[in-house]
Amino acid sequence: MCKVKGCNMPIGNRTESVGSALYIYWECAKKHIAYKWCSQPVLNRRLHGGDVQIASAILASGNNFSKIALFARFLRLHFLGTVKFSNIQRTYVVPTINSFWKDEQMEVFHQMEGQSIVALGDGRNDSPGHSAQYCTYTMMDNSTKKIVSIITMDKRETGKKSPNMEKACFVKAMDEIQDNLNVEEVVTDAHLQIGALMKNRFPDIKHSHDIWHAAKNLGKKVVAAGQAKECRSLIDWSKDIVNHFWYTCSSATDVDSFLEIWCGIVHHVVDEHEWDMSYSSNYFGNTQCKHGPLEDEHKEWMVKGSASHKALIKIVFNKRFLNQIHYYLNFRSTAELENFNNLILMYSGKRFAYSPPVYRARSQLAALDYNANVDREVKRKSDGTIQQHRTFNKKSGRWSVTPVKVEKNYEHVHKLMESIVVARLNDEEGMSGPVVLGADDPRRLSKTIAPTEPKPTEELLQEKVSRFPK
Ligand SMILES: [Zn+2]
Ligand SMILES: [Zn+2]
Repeated sequence: MCKVKGCNMPIGNRTESVGSALYIYWECAKKHIAYKWCSQPVLNRRLHGGDVQIASAILASGNNFSKIALFARFLRLHFLGTVKFSNIQRTYVVPTINSFWKDEQMEVFHQMEGQSIVALGDGRNDSPGHSAQYCTYTMMDNSTKKIVSIITMDKRETGKKSPNMEKACFVKAMDEIQDNLNVEEVVTDAHLQIGALMKNRFPDIKHSHDIWHAAKNLGKKVVAAGQAKECRSLIDWSKDIVNHFWYTCSSATDVDSFLEIWCGIVHHVVDEHEWDMSYSSNYFGNTQCKHGPLEDEHKEWMVKGSASHKALIKIVFNKRFLNQIHYYLNFRSTAELENFNNLILMYSGKRFAYSPPVYRARSQLAALDYNANVDREVKRKSDGTIQQHRTFNKKSGRWSVTPVKVEKNYEHVHKLMESIVVARLNDEEGMSGPVVLGADDPRRLSKTIAPTEPKPTEELLQEKVSRFPK
């Protein structure tokens, strides 16, 4: 019975949902509330803890609000709305991720203090070529495979020119790591703009190219030359030629020794394994293949001076290719960055549109995930041997085995989510103030990524009507 003086009416209960929270009220017909219960802790100024945690978990798990909200709708699960999600994301989630990444980066810099590093760098656009809005450029330390810098840029920051983003990101990333580390070598793919930058702006830093890209391009060149009818046998030799390139890169120590080993392929393919000439100025006399005795059964040799042989000579002695040798001598690979670029996809799917700060935060989440897990232990079977699984590399077109690692524990996400709640608890202003864009927010430069501002909707509608008359 209602305890309010003079009421004495029977008490029933009523439920109400606010965002993702459920309230139960015990009250009488006159709405005197006897007791109230909420399914969630209520943070300062009545923001529900569940709403904050849902918003955090959506980003931290690389999901998208609209999809998860639809999922909740189909399940008739009470959920927070778009506006509240955006407010929480902007005010607490994104800034906390930014500062987590800053802390992680400082920690990594601290661990490498006083060391010279080899930095692997690669950019990834959110969509191909000229239509890309964002570029994420990642720099990784070659020895620990930890990410030392991750820069995102919006095409508005490069005059709405997508192809310029990678270069601009690269400069920013270089500035960031050079402020903290001693970079002795940078490894990238054969990106023209970056090659020029390294020469002009960072002449003291050794620049190497990724051996995978180089081998792939070489293979393509050989296969392309083998398309001509009279050069078919080149196709049979394409794998051997690429393998020989790998071998040369791995064993040569300078340009001269590279030339000596590399050029030998034009002899080997015509069954000539010793030759009395040299291809560099510092070697003289007799040179031979390094493969030792050959098996009796061997693939068909090329005919010396045949069209295939001539085409191969043209590829092997290609001037541009030979000029690049110094990029391959350190035998570097950025393959690990490909793995990271795949991880970015988990956090920012290509089919979704994100604002610049959210896109950046999602890239940082990928970097946090990567660094937290790069040293994970391998899984062992009961007999102590390492568990392996087969993987297919799309780039090389080959199968290989890699050790299975123990599952991720996502400890950093738990800390992150806790910090987001704390950020709210410490916030005395709340989320209702006007949205202020950060100083470096590309939306300050232009509202949209379109080359021109849109006409009023009414005008666009008129144009559409006149273009498609009834
Ligand atoms: Zn009452
Ligand atoms: Zn040989």
